[in-house]
Amino acid sequence: MSAPMTTATGAAPGTTPNATTSATAGTTAASPRPLGILAALPQELGDLIEAMRAESGVRTITHGQRDYHVGTVRGAPCVVTLARVGKVAAAATVSALIHEFDVEAIVFTGVAGGVGSAVRVGDIVVAETLLQHDLDASPLFPRFEVPLLGVSRFAADTALAGRLAAACERFVAEEGAACAARFGTREPRVHRGLIVSGDQFVASAAAVNALREALPDALAVEMEGAAIAQVCYEYGVPCAVVRTISDTADDHAPASFVSFLTEIAGAYSNAILARFLEARGAAG
Ligand code: SAH
Repeated sequence: MSAPMTTATGAAPGTTPNATTSATAGTTAASPRPLGILAALPQELGDLIEAMRAESGVRTITHGQRDYHVGTVRGAPCVVTLARVGKVAAAATVSALIHEFDVEAIVFTGVAGGVGSAVRVGDIVVAETLLQHDLDASPLFPRFEVPLLGVSRFAADTALAGRLAAACERFVAEEGAACAARFGTREPRVHRGLIVSGDQFVASAAAVNALREALPDALAVEMEGAAIAQVCYEYGVPCAVVRTISDTADDHAPASFVSFLTEIAGAYSNAILARFLEARGAAG
């Protein structure tokens, strides 16, 4: 295994560069285990790394062609990184968060296509369960089931997802109307339920209708969440996924996705994570 490369930026004491190559590069024995926070694309992280830089300084460790940013946000120790797009990228990144950084739990923040009939652009979906909609080893195994693991729906951690949903509800109560006015979306609603993942950007009426038919309770579609949930399930690490709806996975999806990602996604992520991390940091 190659040694992780470490660089540090930011002036805070106690965060000077550290040439450690230990297996748990993100923590010391005395410090609490950090939370792993990841997204696929930089816009989905909002200003999280800047907030870390201002609060604690950032120690950046490069591993497996990804940068892992270690520090504290709103009093909560975190390792923040970008998975890039797709299930393999997400699984590899989560595996590194677990094994190299000894994270206590994982939170994914990003955007998704709305699939449920009540789910609109600007809404927020917090996963209760996650499934890989493109996994099909039938007739050897039931469609959607992970062969030899015997699971098709992976559960998010109930407590973690509950705290994430509470942060979303607080954001909507405190800033939802202002957000809707600013971005020209409807006032956001928070949904909880099934998120489905696959290695396709779903962008046609036919494709999203096929998903609705096969999985009538699916609320949103994206490309990473269920892979993260599978790895977390296999290693017994709690995980939660929050997705803001950037598009409705139909023919308008490419344009809707790009404008939402560039103009809105970061603001939502900042507002939700600030509330979530504040509560976590205060809990110590
Ligand atoms: N080339 C694009 C890739 C984005 S793929 C870019 O870099 O801008 C879309 C990303 O947003 C994925 O990470 C996926 O999880 C999420 N997503 C949003 N809408 C989606 C949809 N309709 N179908 C699948 N994934 C979607």
